[in-house]
Amino acid sequence: MSTFKAPKGTYDLTPPDSAKYLAVREAISAPLKNSGYGYIETPGFEDVALFSRGVGESTDIVSKEMYTLTTKGGSELALRPEGTASVLRAALEANLHKLGNLPVKLWYSGSYYRYERPQKGRYRHFSQVGAEAIGAEDPALDAELIILADQAYRTLGLQNFRILLNSLGDKECRPVYRDALQEFLRELDLDEDTRRRIDLNPLRVLDDKRPEVQKQLVGAPVLRDYLCDACKAYHEEVRDLLTAAGVVYEDDEKLVRGLDYYTRTTFEFVHDGLGSQSAVGGGGRYDGLSEMIGGPALPSVGWALGVDRTVLALEAEGIELELPSSTSVFAVPLGEEARRVLFAKVTELRRAGVAADFAFGGRGLKGAMKSANRSGARFTVVAGERDLAEGVVQLKDMESGEQQAVALDALVAEVQQKLA
Ligand code: AMP
Repeated sequence: MSTFKAPKGTYDLTPPDSAKYLAVREAISAPLKNSGYGYIETPGFEDVALFSRGVGESTDIVSKEMYTLTTKGGSELALRPEGTASVLRAALEANLHKLGNLPVKLWYSGSYYRYERPQKGRYRHFSQVGAEAIGAEDPALDAELIILADQAYRTLGLQNFRILLNSLGDKECRPVYRDALQEFLRELDLDEDTRRRIDLNPLRVLDDKRPEVQKQLVGAPVLRDYLCDACKAYHEEVRDLLTAAGVVYEDDEKLVRGLDYYTRTTFEFVHDGLGSQSAVGGGGRYDGLSEMIGGPALPSVGWALGVDRTVLALEAEGIELELPSSTSVFAVPLGEEARRVLFAKVTELRRAGVAADFAFGGRGLKGAMKSANRSGARFTVVAGERDLAEGVVQLKDMESGEQQAVALDALVAEVQQKLA
């Protein structure tokens, strides 16, 4: 142990567990790559105003959870707390929306930062894979994204997740609902903070988890009754397309999510084995965000799935991912001469595309065989002086236990053939 520890609310990914995270990222991104989404990467920090304008001043993310800093040059920056605003900013900056091919479909994977109270499943540094489809208003696009997230979770073997679905209306009907909701909320017995939220962001009050608040919310006006005809028809179409695709969802009229930019379709993936931090992913339509950050009108939809919580969900369901061993051949030299010869063979194997590793550090046979076992390699190659004198190595199949002498020159071809 060194003098230093990972900062509060963060943790390190170390082998062998780190392989799970890579596999989860891969599983989430695979359906996207297969559906016309191109990879995008943006900086880990942005102009702080991008988030305060985009995500919203009144959200917890912006008002309490952002890591902000002033650079030596006087710029106000923030570590990115989420991906959508950055991706949209980057797409606009690169004029991707002007290339005539809407929607612009993008996927990303990276680290995000929120100054939250850490607990299991809630970290200050976490990891998301996300997708955004920019510049098209089409219920099939909303459905596509939900279907792809569902597919990602299913290929991982997850079963105990649910999809919550709602519509938040648009700039026509949402303000009417907002007024009605504010009127209702102002009559309730609520603390100072919550009263302030009624003015700033009344929909968020519905999200309040405290039972004494939830009790009072019975009978609150529901958005569904206020949706305009266009929003209603749009939402019906999304629901029909999901049903036709065999994706099961639950209508949740209380689902509002913690970001201001959402309009119409919103959804959350929750996992029932995770306790209080049950949201493994979420997203929705954000038709007004582009204009909020100074761009043209570009109706868009997207989601982000949490990698950390997806790994926890796998653990909660007792799912062991089948991770192929990263090493196929492990070489164990006995003696100096063998060390040189086998090291050269390992290099040759690697150049031929065979994953190979070597017993470094000149430990004895016992220790080296332990490393070979731990590596998960299918084959070990052992050679001592007598083998070398005969021009052979001993190739051992770790699964069957069979061992055979193989001519040094034939080793690479032999291994390739056995692995094929
Ligand atoms: P959000 O942008 O808040 O909708 O988050 C999308 C997903 O990212 C959530 O469903 C979580 O899986 C994950 N996530 C958000 N915040 C955290 C956090 N502090 N720690 C771990 N995962 C998080």
